[in-house]
Amino acid sequence: MPNPDEIFGAYVFDDAMMQRRLPKETYRALKRTTEEGRSLDPAIAGVVANAMKDWALEMGATHYTHWFQPMNGVTAEKHDAFISPKADGKVLLEFSGKELVRGETDASSFPSGGLRATFEARGYTAWDPSSFAFIKEGTLCIPTAYCSYGGQALDKKTPLLRSMQALNKQALRILRLFGNDRVVRVVPTVGAEQEYFLIDKEVYRRRPDLMVTGRTLFGARPPKGQELDDHFFGVIKPRVQAFMKELNTELWKLGILAKTEHNEAAPAQHEMAPIFTTVNIAADHNQLTMDIMKKVADRHGMVCLLHEKPFGGVNGSGKHNNYSIATDSGVNLLNPGDTPSENAQFLLFLTAVIAAVDEYQELLRVTVASAGNDHRLGAAEAPPAIMSIFLGDELNGVIESIVSESRYAGHEPSQMRLGVHILPKFPKDSTDRNRTSPFAFTGNKFEFRSLGSSQSISGPNVVLNTAIADVLMHMADELEKAQDFTTAVDALIRRTLRAHKRIIFNGNGYDQAWVEEAERRGLSNLRTTVDALPHYTDDKNIALFERQKVYSRLEVESRCEVKIENYIKIIDIEALSTIDVARRMILPAAIAYSGEVASALQAKRAVMPDLAAAEEPLLKRLSIHTSELYNAIEALHKALQDMDTTQPMIAQAQYTRDCVVPAMNAVRASADALEPLVGEKHWPLPTYQELLTSI
Ligand code: ADP
Ligand code: MG
Repeated sequence: MPNPDEIFGAYVFDDAMMQRRLPKETYRALKRTTEEGRSLDPAIAGVVANAMKDWALEMGATHYTHWFQPMNGVTAEKHDAFISPKADGKVLLEFSGKELVRGETDASSFPSGGLRATFEARGYTAWDPSSFAFIKEGTLCIPTAYCSYGGQALDKKTPLLRSMQALNKQALRILRLFGNDRVVRVVPTVGAEQEYFLIDKEVYRRRPDLMVTGRTLFGARPPKGQELDDHFFGVIKPRVQAFMKELNTELWKLGILAKTEHNEAAPAQHEMAPIFTTVNIAADHNQLTMDIMKKVADRHGMVCLLHEKPFGGVNGSGKHNNYSIATDSGVNLLNPGDTPSENAQFLLFLTAVIAAVDEYQELLRVTVASAGNDHRLGAAEAPPAIMSIFLGDELNGVIESIVSESRYAGHEPSQMRLGVHILPKFPKDSTDRNRTSPFAFTGNKFEFRSLGSSQSISGPNVVLNTAIADVLMHMADELEKAQDFTTAVDALIRRTLRAHKRIIFNGNGYDQAWVEEAERRGLSNLRTTVDALPHYTDDKNIALFERQKVYSRLEVESRCEVKIENYIKIIDIEALSTIDVARRMILPAAIAYSGEVASALQAKRAVMPDLAAAEEPLLKRLSIHTSELYNAIEALHKALQDMDTTQPMIAQAQYTRDCVVPAMNAVRASADALEPLVGEKHWPLPTYQELLTSI
């Protein structure tokens, strides 16, 4: 295998490639465009497109596509060949600037939440030149944003780019106040750790529930689960090792900085962490990573499961969104600095994050709400549904002393004037292993841990960028008017921390006592997706998005609707699949096995009428659970039929949560009770044991 440095970025039309292939002037113009976050001049687009096409053809590509991320959180591509017809019946290989910069697409079947009626189905895609084009399976992919002709964002990239702009603008105002004149651009940086399961393809194929819904809808507890904790960071099996090796190679070719790989807590569970990068690129890369994980697994006779909860009773999968804010020269604004002024600046940004998370806690909860994630949040394996911030002892001490104007670590109270305060370096110590916190400070960044493994990271980062931008805006408004900057910063930080310190929680988030404590503090506890989603359109949240020009009211409402609809659809598919598997596989198996036991009993009774026979109590138990199962299936069926589709979406979602989900769980409960009773030869589904040890 070639060295990583030889293959890294080989399939990407990256900066080095552009520099090599573009005329100097064009390259510089393009660079300016991306650095200053402006839109692309059509004059240079043609030159770039041509160079890109030549490169792609040399790399063996025949098609190009505008690669985009519709609101359903997956990626979409429509492939076009480079060919155009010539008069002599031959073809010309062409790719114009227009085709690079803007594509038209009839994408009426993508969810739009009513934003785009199907009769005006066309939308257009526009290249995001800050994310490089790349080649995937013979196709040149151009990362694009996707909008309607009315200019409404129909995708996940557009709002992310808008939110980056908002944050850039406000963060620059703050930096200028600190005398930072040279910084041109501020960007959010993200490293997204991705968890996933690998199971054998043959075993997978015998689980229709898993194939249809991405998770097992049935399965009794295996004799050996994760009780022994022997999987976490354990030795990686050869088949998995081979998968990881190829995955890394594929990701490196695409310029994705795949860095860390290890086994996770559950059996068959693993994690991949890339090195962080600018958030829009991180979002593109994470989508690609999920895509490529599935494809590589397939080539190795395995299936990669990205669902948040593939197996009941076994840890599910999440995604950790490591977040910070950096300047164009690479200075991390959430890193405590070496001078008092840098430290005041750090504390101001830190305070802004704290205020933003507290102020918009419901909105952040909304961004991680999904049917899949409902199995995790608050289930003592993932963070609680309550938003809170973990700071660690040391930083918490600093914050406490600021709030109470008392001494910290030997400094006299008078020295706590922020302008002259020297902060300690916060070591990335073991305290960040408080895995129960949804939002933890880990030395020089925050780790937002509530994301579901299959979701796009765009939504959470849109809200983080926007909320932080908004807090910074109010701070800048105040500080720009101040007579004495140092005093004003000092007062502003103290006042803001006092107002928002309720969001800071350094204890055990799995503890029931925290739920009560959080309630006393007035923090919201939005337990399920259905509880959370209506907050998307709270006046306060729409006002935030409009103020920062990230979403219009219509765009928020449409996204909210897409999310609610998605929840209903997912549970509906799960319920139908539950009925299907239970009726056609499990019930017949239980009946057949009961018949066998009954015949055995009858035969035994014929020769030994008075002796005790295990068949009898077994048959009784089988019969009880079988009829339970039958009734539960009928009840689930009825629950689905009784759904009133004339009701508003949110009411349907509530009904789904309150009536369909419990009915589905009841079917599973009786099926899972049957599983250990029914003979192995009769049981139609691979067991959890088989699934989790299939590799
Ligand atoms: P761990 O969480 O296992 O201790 P690290 O803290 O080193 O590992 O990093 C976890 C993730 O955080 C990685 O993806 C890493 O690139 C990312 N990360 C590190 N620094 C930053 C930063 N300044 N901004 C965003 N992400 C970062
Ligand atoms: Mg981590």
